[in-house]
Amino acid sequence: MDFDDTLPVVQRKSRRQNDPVKTLAKRTHAQKWLIATALIGLYVLGILLFWQLGVVQQSTVIVLIGLIAFFLSLFFVIFKAKWHLQFEEKRLKLPIVSCAIASMMVICYLDPASHILFTPFCFIAIAYGMYRISRRSALIMAAVIVFAFACIAGMHYHNWHNPALLKLEMMHLLTLALALPAFISQTGKVQLLHRVLHRASRKIKNIQEDAQRDNLLGCFNRRYIVAALEEQKQLADENGTPLCLAVLDIDHFKKINDELGHLGGDEVLRTFSRLAQEHIRAGDIFGRYGGEEFLLVFPETSLLPALNTCERIRSQVESHHWDSVSQRRVSVSIGVTQYIPGESVLELFSRTDTAMYMAKEGGRNQVVVEEPVPAADKAVPEEE
Ligand code: GH3
Ligand code: MG
Ligand code: MG
Repeated sequence: MDFDDTLPVVQRKSRRQNDPVKTLAKRTHAQKWLIATALIGLYVLGILLFWQLGVVQQSTVIVLIGLIAFFLSLFFVIFKAKWHLQFEEKRLKLPIVSCAIASMMVICYLDPASHILFTPFCFIAIAYGMYRISRRSALIMAAVIVFAFACIAGMHYHNWHNPALLKLEMMHLLTLALALPAFISQTGKVQLLHRVLHRASRKIKNIQEDAQRDNLLGCFNRRYIVAALEEQKQLADENGTPLCLAVLDIDHFKKINDELGHLGGDEVLRTFSRLAQEHIRAGDIFGRYGGEEFLLVFPETSLLPALNTCERIRSQVESHHWDSVSQRRVSVSIGVTQYIPGESVLELFSRTDTAMYMAKEGGRNQVVVEEPVPAADKAVPEEE
């Protein structure tokens, strides 16, 4: 069995990287909340400054804070209770943006001076939801905004009979009616680009996953398992954790092929690969090295648990009802050994391979352990 450890390192999430995945997901949730609250905070800051300048009433500030508290709690409960999962668009961007714009409109109604803040923040709100809100929904939303704004202007005139304010609000309305559709059509292009990128990144992910898998058996392939071994050796060196390796070779596979033909042999390989993967522990890495030879990497594992797993695989293969695939009994010979800090991957592999050959010589269908002997402990031959 040759061992080419010059193969490029496949990008693979180590267990060290795997562990924080959930934490990372939580962090991104927190980041999303942070972005939304920061945008709301900017608007609140604007209103507070207007209040300080005396153009917005204190009661408006209180209403705004009440609205924000209400909508934030509402969406918090919805997301916490996972009600959002019932909807096609699970991030609820359209309802969130609609609530934000509706709240700002209430403030516009209460204090016309806040119109100045409304327009830019209305665009910010639409931009916030632009990847998730369809162009059609955004255009309908724009029409509703223009209509609601016209109603507010009408109500202001009805309440205060102020032609100057009406004129100002009509100009504002015109600006919104012209700019909103143009803005939405531009964000539509960004949305399209976002979708194309999303699809491309999914394809790349699929290609990367395929490149790690053995076409016939679906387990990891040689390229991946060798890279994983290299990576685990580095982690063991860095952290001083134990690492074990097993070489598994199906016994008399040539005879199985002779009896069943290559397709039957393939079926035996598939069943073996499935059995082995069912009996390794989470975190163990199993892959096909070539032909009917497999590698099993045991990260952060000392010899005894590695040996137990190998023995479990061996006995499962032996006791499996192969009748549907093969008339002859199938067995596997396994060599297992522990990494000696400082040795090369090649040295580790060849010790394990030697153990596997000892299992063959010992009569096959067995697990042989190569006890690790650190270089310092190796006996120096005495000169005669
Ligand atoms: P031993 O017990 O000493 O391991 O004997 P063996 O016959 O299993 O070992 P050997 O390495 O001589 O034979 C392995 C055979 O596996 C030879 C090759 O034709 C066959 N083989 C390799 N890859 C595949 C494959 O993908 N499918 C099938 N069906 N056979 C394969
Ligand atoms: Mg072989
Ligand atoms: Mg074999």
